Amino acid sequence: VPDRWLQVRGGTVIDGTGRPPDRADVLVKNNRIVAVGDSTCPGEAVPPDGIDVIDATGMTVMPGLIDVHCHMTYGEANTEEEIDLYTGHELRTLIAAANAEKVLRAGVTSISQPGGSYYIGVGVREGIKRGLVRGPRMTAAGRYLTTSNGLTDWYPTSVGVPDGSIGVLTNTVDEMKTEIRKQVKNGVDLIKLADSPYGQYQAFTDDELKCVADLTHQLGKRCTIHARGAAELDAAVSAGFDWIMHGNLMTNEVIDRLAASGITLAPTLLLLANMCDWPELTGTRPTDLSGMRRMLEKTAESLHAAHRAGVRFAMGSDTGFGITPYGEWHARELELLTIYAGMSPLEAITAATRNGADMVGLGGQLGQVTPGFLADLLVVKGDPLANLRVLLDKANILHVIKDGNVQVFSDDLDGKRFQFDRLPTVYSDVNLTFEMVCNDDPSPSYTVAPWSLSDAKDLVHDIGSLQKNLVDDSLEPVD
Ligand SMILES: [Zn+2]
Repeated sequence: VPDRWLQVRGGTVIDGTGRPPDRADVLVKNNRIVAVGDSTCPGEAVPPDGIDVIDATGMTVMPGLIDVHCHMTYGEANTEEEIDLYTGHELRTLIAAANAEKVLRAGVTSISQPGGSYYIGVGVREGIKRGLVRGPRMTAAGRYLTTSNGLTDWYPTSVGVPDGSIGVLTNTVDEMKTEIRKQVKNGVDLIKLADSPYGQYQAFTDDELKCVADLTHQLGKRCTIHARGAAELDAAVSAGFDWIMHGNLMTNEVIDRLAASGITLAPTLLLLANMCDWPELTGTRPTDLSGMRRMLEKTAESLHAAHRAGVRFAMGSDTGFGITPYGEWHARELELLTIYAGMSPLEAITAATRNGADMVGLGGQLGQVTPGFLADLLVVKGDPLANLRVLLDKANILHVIKDGNVQVFSDDLDGKRFQFDRLPTVYSDVNLTFEMVCNDDPSPSYTVAPWSLSDAKDLVHDIGSLQKNLVDDSLEPVD
């Protein structure tokens, strides 16, 4: 097989290390960057004549984005029931595979999935690796380990945690160990723990976290945790977790210990920010809204202090909900890191490139425009350092290069969204009271059955077609 060569010529290179940008040519051989600089002295690598050239004059060249918090199995759901219950795992897998291409099209060339249902993440990761599915390179966790007090044990105890849930209930150390062993056997890259939903308390004990981290590491895998509160975050640092999600409510003491540990924090601000910024579009209820805005206010204090203390940040968007759809808002997380953690745009880009490489198992090999690194590159129209929002408009992402291959996207997926099955039976949006219908009328004169009784003669057929329409509505791609 002949070597594949590519030169990206004349662009302004943001190299992902945090160094200021510089005009340079980037030379790629197969899947690696071999030279960065003036193409008249390419160093060891001598490209053959007539190689593929991308003229990036006036453009920005930067590493592909690494989103370390991307749930491919959530299917743009609007409720936990959709995420856990109403769509079979075969269809969920196909939807996840289609959505992976949208993520790559947005300039995200690597993702990590910190939790999802079944082993769909492992399957999608392998499909991408084997060239069956177009998508970003990927690492995946299986179902979150939770306790009865953690995120993902949503339902009443009488229902339990169903097989389709993104969580698996592990209330004892033995149950945790058994689940880790099974997940590792089934090919996960990482173990994800679900501590308390909003950081109210520790859902796992210190000892449990230590056992989880030790067994995971013994089996050669990594672990991360949903930790919004100071207590569980501190415990995860002590237990040696590899990276941590959220960190909304940290104390200064915990921030100091996190900074000293060198453990990376991925705040994932997008979900809360999208709800808080556009409630008139999202329908967020006023009572929820004030709580979320308070949470963001506290988060801003916590993350600013962490940034000042030198905590290392990565970029994770929590993409996968209806409010954070695939391929739409990943790059908004960079701007949110500048607002809520006080980063400069250059620091946010470093968080979203170099600092995420470790979470996809490629620390020191990915996320930089540096000789020897994997050739995941973006050619961008505009200057993200002047305005990070240029990365949000896919029209500005002129080329997505992954593993040295310039990606060619069809427009087949443009504007299409693939919705999960929704709550199958909703009887009413209101409580239908006598007053509502009769409205103080002393002699109620409402009409009955405006439809003809003969219309309902084939009841079985009507119900059958009604169900079919419900299914068709929910599965048909919505333009
Ligand atoms: Zn998440």
